Amino acid sequence: MKIKGFWFSRSMQLLMVAALCLGGQVSADALDAKAVDTALKAAYSKYKNLKDGANADYIPALAKVDPKVYGIALVTADGKVYTMGDLDTEVSIQSISKVFTMALVMDESGTDAIMNNMGVDATGQVFNSIVAIEQYQGQEMNAMVNPGAITATSMVKGQSYDEIWSKILAKYSDFAGRKLTVLEDVYESEAATNQRNQALAQLMYAYGRIEKNPLEATDIYTRQCSVGVNAKDLAMMAATLANGGKHPITGKQVVNEEHVPEILAVMATAGLYDDSGKWLYTTGLPAKSGVGGGILAVSPGKFGIAVISPPLDAAGNSVRAQKAIADISEALGGNPYDVE
Ligand code: GLN
Repeated sequence: MKIKGFWFSRSMQLLMVAALCLGGQVSADALDAKAVDTALKAAYSKYKNLKDGANADYIPALAKVDPKVYGIALVTADGKVYTMGDLDTEVSIQSISKVFTMALVMDESGTDAIMNNMGVDATGQVFNSIVAIEQYQGQEMNAMVNPGAITATSMVKGQSYDEIWSKILAKYSDFAGRKLTVLEDVYESEAATNQRNQALAQLMYAYGRIEKNPLEATDIYTRQCSVGVNAKDLAMMAATLANGGKHPITGKQVVNEEHVPEILAVMATAGLYDDSGKWLYTTGLPAKSGVGGGILAVSPGKFGIAVISPPLDAAGNSVRAQKAIADISEALGGNPYDVE
């Protein structure tokens, strides 16, 4: 351990960790079970009847999802699970998948591969902006927006479509702690209507960011967006990031611990698209939304939280999920910038 140029011995480190734990500063145990339950219940009932927002309909299958679906899950970094509302319904993971494909690319090729190829800056444009690619010639395309995300998918190593796809699905399943599957109706619906994403990929190919097969990368990306998840799956995925990349229940190190700070930084920059600044300003939490209605957020060292509720605001972020996560995190002191 190296702090500001000083090396600490192993026994010194243990003493420091013990002192911090006793002070309740670093341990997820600091989250009182009753406080978590109360916060989840309060947020659930406060927003249950909220009617704002509308399902995404540019992917026809998403318009058919019941807008009343509303599930909340919080998993602490040490594996305690709290839930409220609908935990059975699976929605498509959509853009939340972008985090986990990027994590796979970082593990395979290092964090510089992301930084040097599509970049890590926010575009300040909608998530499927063609103008943004033109403006920056395919650089500064954060992997949380479509051009950067399809490029990240194209960077996953493998000899065939099937090999690449199996690696992606296995990675997501490891993050969730159970075997995930594709919602085929969502995949077919999006595959039939994803001409805009094909255009984004072709443009990234033209700028040399995607090296080969842009349409295959778009199709694999479409498949990754169609993976079905419930609120608990998403909270597990978030909790794995909150716990340094180690799944808090299966104990598996799912992503290199060293990459977690970069993953969270990219999420903080563009996880809620061009509303990411507002979100960070209010909550301080790295988060990622998807047009299927899910949002997950990470309070590093403390917890992962997720809400599923399909109606979205104009930026494409679930209305109820933003409000519920903000309230719960506030009640539990989740903001990492807020040091007591
Ligand atoms: N599959 C969707 C798309 O590419 C994901 C977008 C999103 O969730 N914001 O348009």
